[in-house]
Amino acid sequence: MNFNSLRKEIISNNASVKELVNDIFAKIEDKDPEINSYICTTRDNAISQAENIDKLIQNKEKLPPLAGMPIAIKDNICTKGVATTCASKMLKSFIAPYESTASRKIWSSGGICLGKTNLDEFAMGSSTETSVFGVTSNPWDINRVPGGSSGGSAASVAAGFCAAAIGSDTGGSIRQPASFCGVVGLKPTYGRVSRWGLVAFASSLDQIGPITNTVSDAAEILYSISGKDPFDSTCLDKPVPNYLTDLNKSIKGLKIGIIKECFEHPGLNPEVKESVLSGVDRFQALGAEITEVECPRFNDGIATYYVIAPSEASANLARYDGVKYGYRSNEGSNLIDMTSKSRAEGFGDEVQRRILIGTYALSAGYSDAYYKKAQKVRTLIRKDFDNAFKKVDVLLTPTCPTTAFLKGDFVNDPLSMYLSDLLTVPANLAGLPAISIPCGFDKKGLPIGMQLIGNVLEEDRILNAANIFEIDAQVIKNRPLF
Ligand code: GLN
Repeated sequence: MNFNSLRKEIISNNASVKELVNDIFAKIEDKDPEINSYICTTRDNAISQAENIDKLIQNKEKLPPLAGMPIAIKDNICTKGVATTCASKMLKSFIAPYESTASRKIWSSGGICLGKTNLDEFAMGSSTETSVFGVTSNPWDINRVPGGSSGGSAASVAAGFCAAAIGSDTGGSIRQPASFCGVVGLKPTYGRVSRWGLVAFASSLDQIGPITNTVSDAAEILYSISGKDPFDSTCLDKPVPNYLTDLNKSIKGLKIGIIKECFEHPGLNPEVKESVLSGVDRFQALGAEITEVECPRFNDGIATYYVIAPSEASANLARYDGVKYGYRSNEGSNLIDMTSKSRAEGFGDEVQRRILIGTYALSAGYSDAYYKKAQKVRTLIRKDFDNAFKKVDVLLTPTCPTTAFLKGDFVNDPLSMYLSDLLTVPANLAGLPAISIPCGFDKKGLPIGMQLIGNVLEEDRILNAANIFEIDAQVIKNRPLF
């Protein structure tokens, strides 16, 4: 269900947008109980948006770029008048009073809002197992996780419960679930897309981006959601190119750097390594020049991220005190008691663990040893990338060390879960754009993802390379049976 095939149906008038949307809701009702990709659906909104597009079509008026495209939104992104829960007891009854900039831009480009997708609580996790609304299943094998934290978004795209979805990526939460579910996931340059209306996890790392069936759909969504926003001071005031323009350009002579440290890592599954390296051979056959580059600090990304992200999270989550926002415990006998009980009852274990780590890393006497040290390593990681981009145009790694793991494998072993973010966090720490595209399958039939990392604001380059690869390799021939 990619954008171009849907457009054909709409334009050739086989179906009205309203009929298409109704068909998708029927599918969601029938099959999503097995996957649990949606926290809620927004049928009334969707039908009225669909009717508006149908009217434009009937009147032969100019259609906006995403006209009639059914899109789902991760439930940590505010949608006005609709519950925005972050999959947490803390925000279970929170109705967003305003619309995020990214989703507002999608609706004004003609996109249809299908509903809100499941995630790890407050986007902290890699498996979508910590949601208060239950675990999401991977459509390729329902005993396995879809990845996280945007697991609901990736699973709903893979299962055909939407044409595309929006996720957020702080340390890999768009790319890792895209890799596990055999779809495309793009994390833009930090500041390319406004964070206004995204519930903050780690503000210097968070970015909103698309999860789609094809690279060209990701390019279309990126174009519609990018650009300066007066509501987000970290949003870049830089022109937004039409990302479709160069998508089919030849990649002859494109310099692709293979990050040595990733491929040498002992945690990398051999089947993943083999598949990604055969993707490298394909790039070479397509005319790209392949070189090996060194990023000596790349593998320090995990330790750095797991100090910086929890530190920022501990500050961002201080607002949930049972007064200003969120769940309030009935038990407290005074203000402090009520606040601490509200937080203890309202947040799940993983969120509390992050708050504790972050508070510790920022506390007097420790912040030099942990937080400031991590910021210094962050700078070194960024410098490694700067040096690499003096030699090459695009960097290539696997997206994850493994394919989708079984539900329950890591729930009681957070450290091992953290290690699975090894290959995605460096791009966030350096603020760089990165995309995950399917490049093959393991012996169990589970999808494998390849990551392309670009220099600052060079989304067009990684999209171009990814698109040429996708068209040539035709990795995803059939979708899982949902
Ligand atoms: N898996 C990472 C974490 O748990 C990344 C999460 C994200 O990108 N939101 O923090």
